[in-house]
Amino acid sequence: MSDAEIERPPWRSGDARARALFATLGNAVFDQEAAAETITSVARATVEMLDEAQGAPTTTVLSLMASLVRYAAETTDDLREGRVRRRLPLVAVDCEEGCSHCCHLHVSLSVPEAIVLSEYLSSTLDPDALAELRARLAVAAREAQTEDTASRLRNRRACPLLVSDRCSAYRVRPLACFGASSADRRRCAAAFDDADPDAAIPVEPLRAGVARSVQFGLAAGLYARGLDPRRYELASLLSAIMATAEPSRPFLEGVLFSACATPADPPGASVEQTCASLVARDPALRTT
Ligand code: SF4
Ligand code: SF4
Repeated sequence: MSDAEIERPPWRSGDARARALFATLGNAVFDQEAAAETITSVARATVEMLDEAQGAPTTTVLSLMASLVRYAAETTDDLREGRVRRRLPLVAVDCEEGCSHCCHLHVSLSVPEAIVLSEYLSSTLDPDALAELRARLAVAAREAQTEDTASRLRNRRACPLLVSDRCSAYRVRPLACFGASSADRRRCAAAFDDADPDAAIPVEPLRAGVARSVQFGLAAGLYARGLDPRRYELASLLSAIMATAEPSRPFLEGVLFSACATPADPPGASVEQTCASLVARDPALRTT
């Protein structure tokens, strides 16, 4: 997948559905009701994208999913600009390149996000770097089966995509990573030094809210079309995806990737329950 495809969501502008979605997201992060509306809007956009892509090559579907992930970044920028224009307060992001304490936490992501990551890494890393990454992923996937976030932090387990304190796939990093932006990096450093996974880190609410809304909306949309809505630990899922010749095929056929689940993942049953209640409330999410 090229960067151009990732940078330009096909429904970013000139599309009534996209405009409606952006309008909804404008309020989402400060209002529970609007956040729920946002999740529904993203879920509807997801099922529409999947339905429209029926019969199209798998890569088309994946480009659409990648666009949804990228879209979160653009939406956040739009929200920030809107607040600047209206002279509303903003929380400054204190993250900086090379700061990577948060890359030692448990990260879970959806199957489409992992497929996008896999395609990006396969097309950008040279064969040696790719082989090294596969080896790191295999080790990390084994560790993730027994370690919770606290022991992971204590043992200083870095994400296998972290190389020289930089993310190897920053452009297509998971929504969870996108949403994890701090308003105080000293607090992140202190939590890392103390190996305290429960430390209160002040997050930048726009990114966190958008990322969370898109995660839930994406899950509900996938569930509505019989696809795996769950999120799995990064190394376990990415390892499995990279070991599968055409991972999008089983995914689009409705195969569950539950073999990749780790004890620290969001419980699959509760994800499905939440998705089911969203689908039950919204006729637009049901198959026509
Ligand atoms: S969230 Fe914290 S640890 Fe992660 S990049 Fe930002 S400041 Fe650094
Ligand atoms: S995917 Fe990238 S941003 Fe996310 S934890 Fe791993 S190295 Fe950090």
